[in-house]
Amino acid sequence: MSLEKSRDLYNKARTLLPGGVSSPVRAIKPYPFYTESANGSKIRDIDGNDYIDYCLAYGPNILGHANPIIKQAIISQLEKGWLYGTPTDLEVNLAEKIASIYPSIDMLRFVSTGTEATMSALRAARGFTGKNKFIKIEGGFHGAHDAVLVKAGSGATTLGKPDSLGIPEDFTKHTLQTHFNDIEALTQLIEKNQTDMAAVIMEPVMGNIGPVLPEGDYLKEVRKVTEENDVVLIFDEVITGFRLAMGGAQEYFGVTPDMTTLGKIVGGGMPIGVFGGKKEIIEMIAPSGSVYQAGTFSGSPASVAAGLAVLDVLEKEEVHKKLNATGDMMRSRLTEIVADLNLDYNVVGIASMFKIFFGDKPLNYQEVLKCDKEGYIKFFFKMLESGVFVPPSQFETNFISTAHTEDDIEKTLSAYEANLK
Ligand code: PMP
Repeated sequence: MSLEKSRDLYNKARTLLPGGVSSPVRAIKPYPFYTESANGSKIRDIDGNDYIDYCLAYGPNILGHANPIIKQAIISQLEKGWLYGTPTDLEVNLAEKIASIYPSIDMLRFVSTGTEATMSALRAARGFTGKNKFIKIEGGFHGAHDAVLVKAGSGATTLGKPDSLGIPEDFTKHTLQTHFNDIEALTQLIEKNQTDMAAVIMEPVMGNIGPVLPEGDYLKEVRKVTEENDVVLIFDEVITGFRLAMGGAQEYFGVTPDMTTLGKIVGGGMPIGVFGGKKEIIEMIAPSGSVYQAGTFSGSPASVAAGLAVLDVLEKEEVHKKLNATGDMMRSRLTEIVADLNLDYNVVGIASMFKIFFGDKPLNYQEVLKCDKEGYIKFFFKMLESGVFVPPSQFETNFISTAHTEDDIEKTLSAYEANLK
């Protein structure tokens, strides 16, 4: 397998872009492959190598790359212009659709990224409660804004930089942390800080260090303790929204938060973010209320058109049933492979998310950190050589799309078996 063109481009790129990339997780060492195109389940690099893609742009492409229905929706919108700076019927239709699927969402605002969604959701929760503090879960990743870059997962953990320089301590002094799956620790932290506690924000399934799943009734207990203490519960469903089920993790686990953030899938692969929740909270947002939030690209017509198209397909074709069954099959076959090879590894995942964890099955961030990171990277390169693109970090998740064929899955399982050996 030749990666010569990627190597040469990387040498130029790193003089222009920090680490040669536009976002840290892409900076695979010694250099990443640079993409030429992608279609269906495959991604092609500039040296002409094709890979079966389980990264899927880190989650959005649930129907695979360049899905023809989404493509047509975008093209039709482009014919009519792609940025107006005025309201459209598209955004009203997508808002209505999302609100009908997510019982936690009476009203919502569109933004352009998941980062903006969580930043604005926290601002709204603080504005609504008049309180300052919030709790995040260690290893949770809620985008790259100041208040949440503390013990953050995803690229921040991969690079060993879960906290960031350039953020004054004053900006994170209201960010409290606790372990996932530990309801007592969360309860104590809330009770101790109740008078100034605005919100708890969490990924209901921790997708940026795992996936790490909630154990037993953890999410229900989180709901109960936040309700009892008048703390706004925000589920960050940027990954899990429309992935675990149409109604995300909240539908899957039957727990309704006060606010929800969405992104990734809901834009059909175009830039988008959503934050929504109870009417009384979201009406606090400007111009109806005094919590300020704004954006030139918010409700971008091409993103919203792509979002309407993807939700239509997901709903009409009952995609989740089939995808989740493929996920179950994938996990059980991988579990057999790991057992046959006598490896101390664990297969983790849920719905159409999966991962072989190079270590014991983790319950929280501290346990995740014990995995064999270097071993995983060696495995990653072997998979690339076998034509399979799994996430380049032990902390990211594999995703399955409707474009993955039986043949793709069998090839992938064979590659897992050969390379784990
Ligand atoms: N929340 C979660 C749970 C995420 O996984 C991510 C991105 N991976 C974000 C927020 C930030 O989204 P974006 O990259 O669109 O800003």
